[in-house]
Amino acid sequence: MSQAVPVEKLASLLKLSHDLGREDRGLAILGEGNTSCRLDADAFLVKASGFSLANLQESQVVGCRFGALLPLLKAGEVSDAEVEKALLDSRLDPTQPKPSVEAVFHAYLLSLPGIEVVGHTHPVAVNSILCAGDIHCWRFANERRFPDEIVCCGAKSVLVPYVDPGTLLAQKIRDETDRFLTAGNRPPRVILLQNHGFIALGATTGSVLAATLMAEKAARILVGATALGGSTALTPRNVARIDGRPDEHYRQRMLK
Ligand SMILES: [Zn+2]
Repeated sequence: MSQAVPVEKLASLLKLSHDLGREDRGLAILGEGNTSCRLDADAFLVKASGFSLANLQESQVVGCRFGALLPLLKAGEVSDAEVEKALLDSRLDPTQPKPSVEAVFHAYLLSLPGIEVVGHTHPVAVNSILCAGDIHCWRFANERRFPDEIVCCGAKSVLVPYVDPGTLLAQKIRDETDRFLTAGNRPPRVILLQNHGFIALGATTGSVLAATLMAEKAARILVGATALGGSTALTPRNVARIDGRPDEHYRQRMLK
């Protein structure tokens, strides 16, 4: 890693990666998942392709330029060779390994206001719901069942239908997130990818870890309540009250 990269940003990204990769948490195994953080207006750090979150090393994190990857979101269909070239060209230091193919959606999410950190995983309980069909996915994205789910994951999540991982997925994430923002929502804390996995985004590594762990817990609770005969969601009014409460804002700050 180049000397220009702030040591504490790299250290906190590695710590988040290790926290998300812990085998006992069931969030990501082998080479699953990836993490990123913004360096400045021009560049960000992201996990390189093929490495494991659980024991990610400094040499397996790569600095990339937003300017080399964001144009892929505007292009129509992009060939695999063009994506490969853009990924390699985006590196701040060409001796570093190739960034993950999911670096394109990391670049987009890190360009949203207030977003500094992104964590993508494939959690077991969340994916149990995301592989269970449209109605279950919609309920998990749009309903909330207990106060801490709202505090950590927001009042609603973005839901993205299944598409091929890579540029197509990055474009779909951009479209659905834009729709979410246009509907008057704040930037999401959570994005759900049907038949694929989970993305948490926030201002700090702590908020990304909290959203991931709480969403996985909420997923286990939804599956458990459904097994008992059905789950009861909080009313929109109750959700709005928690979402807007000053003491909850205080707790959200504490979570950072
Ligand atoms: Zn993935």
